[in-house]
Amino acid sequence: MTKYVYDFSEGNKDMKDLLGGKGANLAEMTNMGLPVPPGFTITTEACLAFLVGGPMPEMQQEAGVHLQALQEAMGKQLGDPEDPLLVSVRSGAKFSMPGMMDTVLNLGLNDVSVEGLAEQTEGDTRFARDAYRRFIQMFGKIVMDVPADAFEHALDDAKEKKGPNAQDTDLDSDDLAGLIERFKSIYREHTKEDFPQDPKEQLQLAIEAVFKSWNGKRARDYRRQNKISDDLGTAVNIVAMVFGNRGDDSGTGVAFTRDPSNGERAPYGDYLPNAQGEDVVAGIRNTLKLAELERLDPKSYGELLEVMDTLERHYHDMCDIEFTIEKGKLWILQTRVGKRTAFAEWVMAYDMLDEGLIDEDTALLRVDANRLEELFKRRVAEDAKRREDPIAAGLNASPGAAIGAVVFTADEAERWAKDDGAKVILVRRETTPDDYHGMIASQGILTSAGGTNSHAAVVARGEGIPAVCGAGQVRIDFEARAFTANGTVVREGDMITIDGFDGHVYVGEQPLEESVLEKARVGDARARTEKIWLAFERLMGVADARRRLRVRANADTPEQSSNARERGAEGIGLCRTEHMFLGPERVAAVQQMIFAETPEEEQVAYDALLPLQRGDFVGIFKAMDGLPVTVRLLDPPLHEFLPDLTSLSVEVAVGRERGEDVDEQEKILAKVRQLHEANPMLGLRGVRLGIFKPGLYAMQVRSIIEAACEVRFSGGDPMVEIMIPLVATAPELTQMRAELEPVAREILDREGVQLSHLEWGTMIELPRAAVTAGEIARSADFFSFGTNDLTQTAFGFSRDDIGKFVGLYEERKLVPANPFVTIDVPGVGRLMRIASDEGREANPALHVGICGEHGGDPASVRFCDDLGLDYVSCSPFRIETARLSAAQAVVGAFASASA
Ligand code: ADP
Ligand code: MG
Ligand code: MG
Repeated sequence: MTKYVYDFSEGNKDMKDLLGGKGANLAEMTNMGLPVPPGFTITTEACLAFLVGGPMPEMQQEAGVHLQALQEAMGKQLGDPEDPLLVSVRSGAKFSMPGMMDTVLNLGLNDVSVEGLAEQTEGDTRFARDAYRRFIQMFGKIVMDVPADAFEHALDDAKEKKGPNAQDTDLDSDDLAGLIERFKSIYREHTKEDFPQDPKEQLQLAIEAVFKSWNGKRARDYRRQNKISDDLGTAVNIVAMVFGNRGDDSGTGVAFTRDPSNGERAPYGDYLPNAQGEDVVAGIRNTLKLAELERLDPKSYGELLEVMDTLERHYHDMCDIEFTIEKGKLWILQTRVGKRTAFAEWVMAYDMLDEGLIDEDTALLRVDANRLEELFKRRVAEDAKRREDPIAAGLNASPGAAIGAVVFTADEAERWAKDDGAKVILVRRETTPDDYHGMIASQGILTSAGGTNSHAAVVARGEGIPAVCGAGQVRIDFEARAFTANGTVVREGDMITIDGFDGHVYVGEQPLEESVLEKARVGDARARTEKIWLAFERLMGVADARRRLRVRANADTPEQSSNARERGAEGIGLCRTEHMFLGPERVAAVQQMIFAETPEEEQVAYDALLPLQRGDFVGIFKAMDGLPVTVRLLDPPLHEFLPDLTSLSVEVAVGRERGEDVDEQEKILAKVRQLHEANPMLGLRGVRLGIFKPGLYAMQVRSIIEAACEVRFSGGDPMVEIMIPLVATAPELTQMRAELEPVAREILDREGVQLSHLEWGTMIELPRAAVTAGEIARSADFFSFGTNDLTQTAFGFSRDDIGKFVGLYEERKLVPANPFVTIDVPGVGRLMRIASDEGREANPALHVGICGEHGGDPASVRFCDDLGLDYVSCSPFRIETARLSAAQAVVGAFASASA
């Protein structure tokens, strides 16, 4: 027969599945000998069985046996008219879960036992009656769904009768007797039944209500939102009551063994004298700081500190505790490993490592790689937050704070930022891929529509730009070049401050606090003495020693490269060359190349571009001296370097109408039309460009190798990897290599230079390439997974447009997570595994990495470790995240206390 009920002495902390988090930890503390009131737990299995099959006589009988034992332990009987036992009924699932049924306190009281309780509490009739009216109220509201207002109104009436500003505490024993009668009739009105006088009936109704609350709407919504399974069920804890509301030598509180906001090793919490649990939550009175308890009741305070210490040493982690003091006697009512901020988790892990409470591997698993980036961001200063009211609030879409002048279009953002060096905040209803150039020129982004998966949010997070999205109160009037938010008018050019940590928007320039870690990172000596930096240095050192994967950066310029190197990058996994074709002097040459009618004309253009590109590569090779640099030959469709078809057509038409000379523009238009593609993502790009314009890749190779020679001459060690994008078939790569390798060799021979490392490889970013990787690997020294395109082409989703529907896809569980953020393991991941396995089988010397956005995503890094890749490559600001994730992949599963 299944065992459905466990006494606290029978369980332990590892039984969360069966006993729920609260029950498992109550059992653990009981067995540790801590002062927990006796009680028992009805299992999650009982809940699930009840939800399927209805009332369960065998469970009830088992609970009856445990109740009997509880009564014996307490020397009191439930419902005893002389000396009644009272209990609380508390829900508790595996994960702490808002939306589950609230706790019912003081169960067991009725018209008779309330008098017995008064007797037992030295004739404190007021206390007993107050307990009874609270019980009717809680039971009515929580178990029977009586509207809370009905009781509240009756309570307000009673207080009003006592005089203006009367408090609950002003009601005397007689007032409470009246209130009890009033509450009972409210109960009757709404339930059509009398308030149950039989404590066993009270208990059974309460237990069943907890079970049913598992399937309540609030609980289901919460589980969907937080990706918690519907099949867990909740446990029910029945706990003997202790009373914090028996005078000034009693009270109730919450305590943390360390400060959950900054991690400091000092007890932290709140205390409320003469109060029952729900008073703290209800915020009826202001709580005291926990430290005040030392003055009020030094003995209990001392005991509490001891309990905290015992718990920390037992759980090897920071714990939070709910406690009650009844007439000078301390009781512990709950504990769990406590939630903490991203900042605090580093400080705590470092301190605990230092104290010998945990080992290095455990410390590594205590810090959340997903939240690491936050630690480097600026914040709005605390005192400003206290002083200023936000004018609007939206979703915290991308962390960090930003200040800037308001602009309403991407073009303006770019112009203001570039031409005037202004700091701007781009404010839009929502953003589209056409806004990208303006977004990356902005300090921050504010949208009035869209969620945390909107285009704005996804791009902002990807680029590390603070963003607030979906701030519904922001009404933009494009005509007036202004927006209003809750009555405040903000015009173009006005300064605002946005806080991507909490989604708040402020007018004016609010003071910001630099992140200590960022200051320390760039060399600030004082910041380098702070605990958070010491913690960061120490744990990252451990991470680097543990990880197997190398970490490279995606960097396109010398500045980005040296920044990445400072952050610990061990090379460049993706150096895109497209920006080397932009800028006024270069675009002219690029257009000349595109329009060339003869090879000679084309060569003129290449000759103009070559020295410019060579200069860029010299800087990058110097910054990455002695480390590999993977340069990708030109990838985007050529039309990106030409004017937009529609606007050019209009321009030509208008010019012709006016009788202007539009010959030149017409020539361009004809070329633009010729190059126009219905589906540029699937068009003339990647290696196809190299094949279509044979001189193009040769020119790039020439500038790369010449740059390498130059760096070599100045005593450097450039390590060159040339990468050909978007290969689908093996011959594409073989033929390109046959064309390009002689170009390189010729220069090296001419200059008499030998490079320590020169390799040729390809991106694997098309499904066809992945499944024929064995063949492709025979002509490749390396593979690099371009998981952005691989995801686009595997799903047939356009990355630029996915923001419109990915939210719905995630909500309906059509995809496990946004596949552009976290690698889709069963699909894209399978392609990667095929490519990496078959590639290495065909060519054992092949080295394999990843350069898509996924290279900086913790879950994806873990997968890459599992695949046995050689390295991941990611944006410079994600390097630390990748280093940590790579170590965690080796050490074990991240045990989040923050989730
Ligand atoms: P939650 O999951 O919302 O924290 P709990 O079941 O922990 O709900 O109950 C909330 C509060 O009710 C507790 O912190 C405590 O103050 C009070 N409480 C619960 N059970 C008892 C009890 N047996 N005796 C005294 N107070 C209790
Ligand atoms: Mg609790
Ligand atoms: Mg690509």
